[in-house]
Amino acid sequence: MDQRTHSWIAIRAIALLEDENEERNLVSLLKPHASKASVGAWLPDQADMKRGGAGSMTDNHVLKMYPYKGVQADRFVVRKNELLQQTGSYRMMTRFLQTDNYLEDFWWETAFKGDVRRPGQHLPNRIMALTTIMKDLLLLGDQKIDQLIPGEVRFVEDMDPESRTNEEAASLYFFMLSHFVADVCMPCHCDGRTLSGYGNGLHKELEDHWSKKVGKQFEKKNMLRESLDSHQMLEFARDVDDKFCLNFKGTTIPDLKKGHDAWLEAIYLCRASFAVASIMAPYKTYSYEHSEATAPFDVVFGGDRRNMLAALDQTVLHDAVLNTAIMWKHIWNKVSKD
Ligand SMILES: [Zn+2]
Repeated sequence: MDQRTHSWIAIRAIALLEDENEERNLVSLLKPHASKASVGAWLPDQADMKRGGAGSMTDNHVLKMYPYKGVQADRFVVRKNELLQQTGSYRMMTRFLQTDNYLEDFWWETAFKGDVRRPGQHLPNRIMALTTIMKDLLLLGDQKIDQLIPGEVRFVEDMDPESRTNEEAASLYFFMLSHFVADVCMPCHCDGRTLSGYGNGLHKELEDHWSKKVGKQFEKKNMLRESLDSHQMLEFARDVDDKFCLNFKGTTIPDLKKGHDAWLEAIYLCRASFAVASIMAPYKTYSYEHSEATAPFDVVFGGDRRNMLAALDQTVLHDAVLNTAIMWKHIWNKVSKD
């Protein structure tokens, strides 16, 4: 997604938490900083953040899958029922795959594995790293954050007050995390075929299509205008729902699936995203073996496949918002309820 879409996803996730009205303290931490979401949620894609390699390198924004024929291939088979059970019926991606007839049993019995060029450097690891450090940084929060989190952290009194996490920094980390969670939902980020590369006719075009619908309001320069208050920002974010046929009414935000940590949750979501990519750019037309072929946006979504585009808009954007809220709430519950 581009800057506008990432900003919208983060702000819409705050609104979702506000509407659910369960984690009021988390909302009161994030909401006042909503207008700065355009900075935090986009920061991981900025060139300077990709310096040094360890943090936000491009590899950390993707987990691109291919058929796998190596040792222990069985480990990399995830059958349909299992995947759908792991991703949960509250996700639209689960429903999208549930109703699909294109991926047949043969596909679901094939081993697929992420192409990880440097050991450990992939999207679910990035999400795990960030969620883990965020729990620590929230516990080291300054007095204002401390008031939002029950319980006592005794050693903070020994710390230099300047070194404790303030609300501005904490909200920035939440927005950064939303970037990576949203990247999981973008099918091209989980598909190893050349056609899913950024400049190859589908990936950028799909992101441009979403960006146009999200609208100029979420452009960084417009969001940082001082005349906008955070209440308005959240309202603007809710107003975008119709453009993607989203209905969040009555949504409850669950915790991670039982037995999952942030890493495993992201792994299964990447796998689901890859399955969606294989339907979007049909794998029988664009095989994994002849991966140099491109699948231009106008071809993939041309003619009677316009419905596919609408279904994809709804599925991806719904889940990007919901998954962000799920991951945020999980962190918050970890520090405030465990
Ligand atoms: Zn990214």
